Amino acid sequence: NSVIGIVGGGQLGRMSAMAASRLGFRTHVIAKNMDDPGVQVSHSATIGAFDDPAALRRFADAVDVVTFEFENISANGLDVLSEMKPVRPSGSILRISQDREQEKTFLGSIGVPVAPWRVVTSRADLKTAAEAVGYPFILKTTRLGYDGKGQFRVRDASQLDEAFATLSPKPLVAEGMVDFAMEVSVMVARGLDGTIRCFDVTENRHASGILDVSLAPARITEELAAQAHDMARRIAEGLDLVGIMGVEMFVGRTGDVLVNEVAPRPHNSGHWTMDACPCDQFEMHIRAVTGLPLPEVNRHSDAVMKNLVGPDDMALWPEIVATQGLIPHLYGKREARIGRKMGHVNALFPKGSLPGEFGVQTALGPLGSAE
Ligand code: ATP
Ligand code: MG
Ligand code: MG
Repeated sequence: NSVIGIVGGGQLGRMSAMAASRLGFRTHVIAKNMDDPGVQVSHSATIGAFDDPAALRRFADAVDVVTFEFENISANGLDVLSEMKPVRPSGSILRISQDREQEKTFLGSIGVPVAPWRVVTSRADLKTAAEAVGYPFILKTTRLGYDGKGQFRVRDASQLDEAFATLSPKPLVAEGMVDFAMEVSVMVARGLDGTIRCFDVTENRHASGILDVSLAPARITEELAAQAHDMARRIAEGLDLVGIMGVEMFVGRTGDVLVNEVAPRPHNSGHWTMDACPCDQFEMHIRAVTGLPLPEVNRHSDAVMKNLVGPDDMALWPEIVATQGLIPHLYGKREARIGRKMGHVNALFPKGSLPGEFGVQTALGPLGSAE
């Protein structure tokens, strides 16, 4: 009956804690506020800053194993924790995923293809980088970006000054714009004994830089799905992952797969697994970090997940809870601010029945109409 320590109080920690609780574990969260989504469902919590050594020590004393749901903690903080308790996944994985330069360097080193990219530290670098990756391209901060924040889409040379001035902190990476046919992701879990489990490839649609709708399985060929799974497996093994990780990918118009970024934690695009798989991404993660066996995935339905973001999507809530067959999940956040992920809703379909063209009809209308 060990205690799982979760760094971060957001919804990913909340749903991990709920899965842990169902397996008979207790959870202890370190979070900034008593009211955070993960704290609400955990057995106990340390409220404090992730870079406060005293808070980290209190947290570590209360737990048997540490995991994280939030990537923008200092890797030094995780190092402090790892001197006291096992940290899974390890701080070295977090270090790589926190920094787009290290991430792309790692992916390149294990032969996983990524979009052409260059590091940009100075305005002069930006000019050279633009020539190397070509227009249009995306300039991104190497650290702290999420939901498309910390990015600038550069159409032509006239925008270089503005792009460079807008983004901080430096360094940045310039990334060639991928003309993708589809964005997909793979949730891959790796156990303490090295067992790997990949969830079905997920098709993802974004709106305003935020994940809007995921469909599983992605409507791609078996060959492409196998390629995506193989990449996810190689990344998990290359990182010596213990836990779950989301691997975001682009499927190009000519059927090539590139990796965009990795997230060594449960991932928004894996929320469909909560209702379409006997063992979802959160349970898989808890099993991995506690050394339990990882069951096969066994998706029993096709699924569509719609994120509920901000006040606009929350306006649909009364209709969602009144609709047969929709499976709602709310994160317990009080204020529906613009762009804030408040919850999600899953819809299940018989296996093999997702329609061929985009736009899944539900009682809510087409879930995720093409943007
Ligand atoms: P997340 O919330 O997933 O962590 P993020 O802020 O780290 O997002 P990215 O995943 O790098 O940002 O980019 C956000 C979205 O912008 C991608 O899902 C994709 O739609 C688009 N995008 C990013 N990089 C590229 C690229 N090189 N070519 C084309 N589109 C891109
Ligand atoms: Mg990211
Ligand atoms: Mg992303």
